[in-house]
Amino acid sequence: MHFAALSQVGEAMSEPGRYWANNTGGSLNLIEAAVAANCLDFVFSSTCATYGEHDNVVLDETTPQLPLNAYGASKRAVEDILKDFGAAYGLRSVIFRYFNVAGADPDAEVGEFHRPETHLVPLVLDAIDGKRDALTIFGTDYDTPDGTCIRDYVHVCDLVDAHVLGLKWLEADKGSQVFNLGTGSGFSVREVMDRGAAVTGRPVPCNTGPRGAGDCTKLVSGSTRAITDLGWEPRPSSLDMMIADAWKWHQTGHYEA
Ligand code: UDP
Repeated sequence: MHFAALSQVGEAMSEPGRYWANNTGGSLNLIEAAVAANCLDFVFSSTCATYGEHDNVVLDETTPQLPLNAYGASKRAVEDILKDFGAAYGLRSVIFRYFNVAGADPDAEVGEFHRPETHLVPLVLDAIDGKRDALTIFGTDYDTPDGTCIRDYVHVCDLVDAHVLGLKWLEADKGSQVFNLGTGSGFSVREVMDRGAAVTGRPVPCNTGPRGAGDCTKLVSGSTRAITDLGWEPRPSSLDMMIADAWKWHQTGHYEA
């Protein structure tokens, strides 16, 4: 299972070479080494950022991949490499296009930590408990009901479950396949803030800033392939659960260690 990558859209806009070298070049090295070692089952972490901007189109696995940034493009290229290596060497791949992963282990033993933090849910929690002065909303003039970007948030534990199912899929010799991993529900930045306030019982200090370079207006999965074909069962109504689990992790203090 190949997870390692650079994954920040803003950074990909300003330093595209690092994304191509690390995400695509590094993956090519790993895929070649896997084939050389006769490891022919490969699970790859791709991204909804490979889709780019599509107005009023349901994003399923057949939607054209038109990434707006080098992050999405560098991941799409790895998908192409996996297909070519499948044809040439019999490499079987499960490609997961992650939507926005959030949450933490419900027992709060493992959680999200990035330095610097760039992801919305941990930043909302940082603002709530005063670790930062305020959350800056990147853009309020998008063509969405409240003007802020919409994303499809998926619980990290659901993501883990999908990977186990992906391995079983390959072990059962079901062949190469691509799966969106999103719940099909979209939440705007303001809605995530509102849920954060509701779950924690505290307000989210915020201000507004310009749009983030390379940000898509809306990324919501329209596919149920992972549910119907893979047997994936993402938790229902999971945004509140994601925030609650992330908040529990946040409060352990491990987060700052
Ligand atoms: N976002 C924001 N302020 C922040 C960080 C993120 O408004 O400080 C927005 C970002 O523009 C995007 C959404 O929150 O629309 C989710 O961002 P994140 O970085 O978590 O994931 P991305 O969708 O960029 O991979």
